[in-house]
Order: sequence, then C-alpha cells, then structure tokens
Amino acid sequence: MSSSFGKNVCPKLIYFDNNSTTLICSQAKKIYTEWLSCYNASSDSKIAKPAKVLLEKAQDVILAHCGVSSATHTAIFTSGATESNCLIIKSCVKAYKKKLIEKGSELCPHVIASELEHHSILECLHFLKESGEIDVSYVGSTTYGNILAEDVEKEIKPNTCLITIMFANNEIPIINNIEDIGIVAHKYRIPMHSDCVQIFGKYKIDIQKNNIDALSASAHKFYGPKGVGVLILDNNLIEGYGLSAEIHGSQQHGLRGGTENVAGIASMMVALKHTFKNRKTKNQKLFKLRETLLFKLSKIYKFANYTNYLDDSIKKDNIELVSLGPPEDKKGYILPNTILLAIAKNTGKPFCNIEFKKFLDSKNMIVSIGSACLTKSDKASPVLSAIGAPPVIKRGVIRISFGDSNTIEEINKFIKVFCLGIEKQCTDLK
Ligand code: PLP
Repeated sequence: MSSSFGKNVCPKLIYFDNNSTTLICSQAKKIYTEWLSCYNASSDSKIAKPAKVLLEKAQDVILAHCGVSSATHTAIFTSGATESNCLIIKSCVKAYKKKLIEKGSELCPHVIASELEHHSILECLHFLKESGEIDVSYVGSTTYGNILAEDVEKEIKPNTCLITIMFANNEIPIINNIEDIGIVAHKYRIPMHSDCVQIFGKYKIDIQKNNIDALSASAHKFYGPKGVGVLILDNNLIEGYGLSAEIHGSQQHGLRGGTENVAGIASMMVALKHTFKNRKTKNQKLFKLRETLLFKLSKIYKFANYTNYLDDSIKKDNIELVSLGPPEDKKGYILPNTILLAIAKNTGKPFCNIEFKKFLDSKNMIVSIGSACLTKSDKASPVLSAIGAPPVIKRGVIRISFGDSNTIEEINKFIKVFCLGIEKQCTDLK
C-alpha cells in the first residue's frame, strides 16, 4: 500500500467546493477514533451498554436540533443522505401500494418531486417509474430556482403518497419555503419529505413548524465523517403509514437493519454540535465571503442576476457574468455559502467550463461545475434545465461553495486566477 495512504488532504488548496463535501473537523475526528473500538450496540450483554447509550444520546442531540424529541420522532441512522432519500421514497411507496391493493384499487402510488432534486432522489424515482411501480410528477421552479407551494398543489392526485422537495438546493443558492409546501401536503394528508442535506449544518430546522414528516441529512456536509447520515421520521408516519425497511434486520426498530456505525454516529453528533458553535457569526461570515466575491467580480465584469438577464430589455451580448439564484436583496432565500455563476463573456468561441475548471485545478483552486458544459447530455444539471438556462449559461456555469474556514484573502487570490482563466480562453483562440 502506498505510504501516502491516509494523507490525501492537500493543505495548499483553496477549497471552494464545500457543498460537495466538507472536511471532518478535529473534534469529530477525535471522537470517531475513540469509538472505533466499541462493542456491538445490539448485543444483549452488558458490554454493549456504552454503545447503546451513545446511540440514544446521538438520537436525542439530532432530534433536539430539529426541535423535537424521541417522544414524537425517530432518528434512523443510515450510510448517508442517498440512503435516507431512497429509504423514505421506497418505504412510502411500498406501504401505500399495500393500502391500494387492500382497497382493490388498480392505481399505482404517485409521488411529487421537484425537477431540482438531488440525483439520489431523481434516480430513485426514475428507477421506480421505469419498473412500473409508481407514477411521478415533477414540479418546475421559478427563475430563482425556488419551488412554489401552488405549483406543488396543482400536481396532487387522489393516489399521491409522498411529496419530496429539498429545503435548500445543492447547486443554485436557494432556500425553499418548505413550511408552505408542507401546509399543502398536510391539507391533503400526504406525507412531506424534505432533503435537508445542504441546510442542516447552516440553520436549525424546526421540523414541526416546517410541516416536515421525514427529513434527510448527511454528516459529511457539516464537518462530520463520510458514510453516515440520518432519516428523521415523525412517529405518526412510521406507525400510521406502516413504513418498512429497505435494508432488513432487527436494528433501528426494524426500519434499517445492520450493525450500527457507532463511531460514525458519535462523530456526526459531535460535528453537529461543533458546527453550531457561533453558527450565526459563521453564517454572517459566509454571506460576507459571498458578497465580497460577487461585488469584486462585478467591478471587473459586466454583471447581471439571471432573472434580470432573461429580461428581453437586457442586451445580452453586453453581459459577461451571470449570478444564478435569488437577487442579493432576497437574503432570506439565499444559501449563505453558495454562488452559482455563469461566465457568459464572449471569448470568441463557446466558453467551456470544463477547460476553465481544469485551469483552476491546475492552480490548486477547487470549485465544481457538474457536467454543465455538456449542454446536450442528459448528464447536464437538471437544475439548469429546470430554470430554463440557455446554452450560453449552461456552458459557463461554475459553483463556488464556501466553508467555515475560507477567508477574504483566499477570495482575493481566487479572483486573480479566475480572471486569468477567462483571459486564457480568450487568448487560446489567437
Ligand atoms: N442530497 C443533497 C442535496 C446533496 O447535496 C447530497 C450530496 O451531495 C446528497 C443528497 C447525498 O448525500 P450523501 O453523500 O450523504 O449520500
């Protein structure tokens, strides 16, 4: 095995890809190591007690983060949000199908999701649809990228068994009004699931106030370890709906079999506590980083918000940079750490964000682009398609997502390289 095993974190990077993953904090790493040697929490001998107690404590901490307790809710520990998302969708569909069969109905369960959901949701729904197990309706968004409750309501059918809408998007910096969408869901007695991966480490989510019955989160998005997540369920949903497992076994109330990842769960709990120390100040700093980068770039390039850019009165050829998501005065809807930017500058040939990202990579600056450059590919971002982005926007898009340790100095260095990268695409033509 290579001697560099385990030393895969490069200290000299400017890392602006925190929506992809955050690095585990020292507190979470320490507790992870401590709990690596523990007994099986499900063992019936006394040596299992510390692990059992730890799992209960972790559940209490995570539920309290959402304003509830184990009296009304259950935290199911999973391998991450992908599993949490698939578990809630598949178990709701299965439970509802059973009810339909009992009633002698030939309908199949119907699910409502937004077009902007994470791939783990979209691909799970696609799979179920292709296997003939469900019917799905996808709700589009405004040009800011937010989902409207009234649009969700229009898709409701008598056989709708689940509404799943993410709280904050992972690409475009939007925070949805889940409370209103939840009101619609509950008006029709439909369970409401929200993928809260990107918001969970930034704001406390009051699960009841927001009318959420099931919530997914993932530790590695808030400075915890990779491979651990949670699905928080309202006990009424478990019991009233008759949810069942996808991974079978006796653990976790029979809803998720398998020996619990005690070290990962302990570490997730500590990461959550650590992340929420001075969270308000940290969020203000993230907003500041965001505003600084956008402000400085707007002094260099001709700039527009995407919604304004779409306006017919704007001369598009003049615009060089487009910021996607809500405009800056709609702060309550903006995810504080995220910028989705499209380089629309005329470089003489179609701008290529893949080349641009390679250039930034070569300078040790890490951002994300997804597969947006492949505008015709079905791998291109569904978010960009949902907001009706034209090819020039799709080709130029990059996502910058800050973490709690990023600094203004890093932004200043980044801007220099950013400008060089655009210049390079212009001069490569000559
Ligand atoms: N949902 C959203 C919004 C995400 O951003 C991600 C990860 O990028 C996931 C779900 C999947 O999480 P995990 O990596 O824990 O499976």
